[in-house]
Amino acid sequence: MKKPTVFCIIAHPDDESFGPSGTLALLAKISEVHVICVTDGASDERFHPVGGKTLAKIRSAELKASAHALGVNEVHMLGFQDGSLNNNLYHEIAEAIQKLVDKYHPTLLITTELRGVSGHLDHVAVAMTTSYVYAKNSAIDAIWYNCVSREVSDSMQDYFVYFPKGFAREQVDMVVDISAVFTQKVAAAMCHESQKKDADRVVARWMESPKEEWFFVEKRRDSLTIG
Ligand SMILES: [Zn+2]
Repeated sequence: MKKPTVFCIIAHPDDESFGPSGTLALLAKISEVHVICVTDGASDERFHPVGGKTLAKIRSAELKASAHALGVNEVHMLGFQDGSLNNNLYHEIAEAIQKLVDKYHPTLLITTELRGVSGHLDHVAVAMTTSYVYAKNSAIDAIWYNCVSREVSDSMQDYFVYFPKGFAREQVDMVVDISAVFTQKVAAAMCHESQKKDADRVVARWMESPKEEWFFVEKRRDSLTIG
C-alpha cells in the first residue's frame, strides 16, 4: 500500500530544522514527507558576501541537505521573495500549495501556529494560507501547528521583531517525544551554514531542553500517529 503523504509548509529555508524537524524525521519513517518552502530565503543577501552564487541558491542547497538529514523525500521551492509575503500574494501562494496538494494528495499538513511562532510576518502568511488550503480540502485529515514553550519565547526577547509569548505544556494538544531522532534534528540544523549563528544558538538551547516538539492539532479524522 502506498504510504501517506505529509506536507510541511514553511516560509524560509531553516524553518523546517529550527521548527518541527524531529517530528518530520519521525514521520519520514512511516510516510512520504515533503517540505514546501514558500520563499527563497534571500532577504539578508546584502549581509552575506556570497561570491558568484546567490544566497537563494546557497540556502536552497542547505535546505535540501537538511531535508536529507531528516529523511524527507522531497523539497519544493515556491520561489516567492523572502520578506514579501502579504495579502496581495495570499491567493497566489495558496494556489501554488494547492497545485502540489492536487498532485501528491497529502493527508496531513504541518505549519507554524498562526502567529508564526516567531512573529515573522512571512511565517504568519504561510500559516494562514496553509490553514486556508486545509479548510478547502476535505480529503486532508489534519493540520498540526508547531508552537513553542514560554521558556523559548522568553529567551528570544532580543529577536528583531516582537516574539509572541509561547505556551504552557498543558495548553497544547500534542507533545511529540523526539529523543529518538534528536541527533538528526541537530545534524539538520547544522546544514544551514549561512545561518550558523542562529543554528549554534538554537542547538545550544535544544541541548538544555526537553527533547519534545509541541503542536496544536485540528483534525477531521485521525491522521498519522508518532512517538
Ligand atoms: Zn523563517
